[in-house]
Amino acid sequence: MGTPTNSAEKRFAGIGVSPGIVTGKIFIYGKNELPVSHRKISAGEAPAEIARLEQALMATRQQLQEIQRRIARELGEGDAAVFDAHLLVLDDPSVIDEVVKRVQKEGQNVEFAFDSVANQYIKSLSAEKDEYLRERAADIKDVAHRVVRNLQGHHFQDLRSLTEPCIVLSYDLAPSDTAVIDKKKVIGFGTDIGSKTSHTAIMARAMDIPAVVGLHDASQQVESGAMALLDGYSGTLIIHPNDQTLYEYGQIETKRHQIEVSLESLRDVPAETTDQCRVILGANIEMPGDVPEVIANGADGVGLFRSEYIFINRDSVPTEEEQFRAYFEVAEKLHPRPVVIRTLDVGGDKFLSHLQIAEEMNPFLGWRAIRFCLERVDIFRTQLRAILRASKLRNVRLMYPMISGVNELKKANAELEVVRRELRDQKIDFDEHMPVGTMIEVPSAALTADILAKECNFFSIGTNDLIAYALAVDRVNEKVAYLYEPTHPAIVRLIHQVVEAAHRANIRVSVCGEMAGDVALAPLLLGLGVDELSTSPSLVPQLKKVIRSMSKSQAVEVARDALTFGSGEEIRRVSTKLAMSIAPDVMELSGS
Ligand code: PEP
Ligand code: MG
Repeated sequence: MGTPTNSAEKRFAGIGVSPGIVTGKIFIYGKNELPVSHRKISAGEAPAEIARLEQALMATRQQLQEIQRRIARELGEGDAAVFDAHLLVLDDPSVIDEVVKRVQKEGQNVEFAFDSVANQYIKSLSAEKDEYLRERAADIKDVAHRVVRNLQGHHFQDLRSLTEPCIVLSYDLAPSDTAVIDKKKVIGFGTDIGSKTSHTAIMARAMDIPAVVGLHDASQQVESGAMALLDGYSGTLIIHPNDQTLYEYGQIETKRHQIEVSLESLRDVPAETTDQCRVILGANIEMPGDVPEVIANGADGVGLFRSEYIFINRDSVPTEEEQFRAYFEVAEKLHPRPVVIRTLDVGGDKFLSHLQIAEEMNPFLGWRAIRFCLERVDIFRTQLRAILRASKLRNVRLMYPMISGVNELKKANAELEVVRRELRDQKIDFDEHMPVGTMIEVPSAALTADILAKECNFFSIGTNDLIAYALAVDRVNEKVAYLYEPTHPAIVRLIHQVVEAAHRANIRVSVCGEMAGDVALAPLLLGLGVDELSTSPSLVPQLKKVIRSMSKSQAVEVARDALTFGSGEEIRRVSTKLAMSIAPDVMELSGS
């Protein structure tokens, strides 16, 4: 536990999205800018201003080259090449000459002049049709931001360049920010906005980093360097924790640790109810690097590999070979356990600049996932080839995200058939019987599950999106987070309907959204007939304990009651009551 200071303790309440308690120094990370100072300078001051500009350009160049070297070392030359374009901006005479002119002729201070010139370029380039020119706008924005910070004496740091462990606090973190986090340096993080099912929160759970979102304006109120305690269970950020708080948290941590240790003994036993109903308990992963966590937590395999994360933080689409290596690595390390690879689910809050998806008014309802893939069949077929090639290990399954109707599913299957034929012609080995599944995350898919079941081998219910779409609640907007209710009767009925349709067609159903990791709801989901659950690796032991402590008939009773209730609270209550009575220690650990 950390050292208290003399400053008064201050608490911020948010939403706990990744469990764990950490103490450390705060690092404020923000792309939201400090105001750029503006003052009139005399002609005599101009040479000194221009000298400051030269120094700032030099400092920026050194910082960029340092980042470039580190990325080349850690991620390879391809990723590092992005910074070549950034370095070029620093030598761009059209920008520099204009800044010098404004300083000399118009008496503008240099940071103001630089900021205005850069903004002018950014504005006109952003409006261009040409993709290359639009990308130049993004380069100029990034570099101008660094130059201005250097001119203003603010040291620029990104999340890859942290030198000591800290708790990162930010207005928001994009999945691309989270994806580069070094767990040794970022021991926890908090954001002003966000919700439990935003992809940043999902990443935090996958990486096992305690995190709290929806902290309102905490990043504005707290300074870098302040001592803090972050409680990812209850969703609290405490700045300058006092002795009493640190003592209390120390006690809680010891108790939680004891429960966690007791769960370790479950690693190699199956998730089976007391009346011998076997539940398959998968883990959700984003990267091949997550596999050790899957094994360490005793999961039965991977129920959802969000493949889009291997497309993120790079400046081009990964080649077939790069993708094949990633899929094969996961399947090989987990063999013979099954690995469900979901095809590219880009869009929504997962934005990839190199895929040229224009900004949309409603990205979650827009050109996303399978809709994107069915149009960019070049990208889709490359991915399908890579997945099929990895299927030669015979433990790979594939599923499509965001299917909204049977035509889409048939089209996706037709693409898969084209690729299968190609591989057969080329005598490349793959699993002819690789199971193909459909994610059920759009209400129209849930309502037509009986039709979809005829065209695929399994269903996986993506409750994160299904809840958002069915209840019309933006999954990343903390203002409407209170309406985001997994136990809403509409959701329970939809899940029930999907399970019934699937079982009538003799196919299995998994739930791979965050609802699957909510231990209090395990009785409800199993009672509704869900065959498999897939969640963050770290939640697997808790879920296993709950499943092993109850009988399927108890769960069925919970679900039967739930289907008669009119409110989400009642439904949650009945499921929580059973979970609490059979596994109180796990419920305490989960903060339920
Ligand atoms: C879901 O929507 O529940 C899901 C698992 O997919 P994602 O969270 O990646 O959108
Ligand atoms: Mg989804």
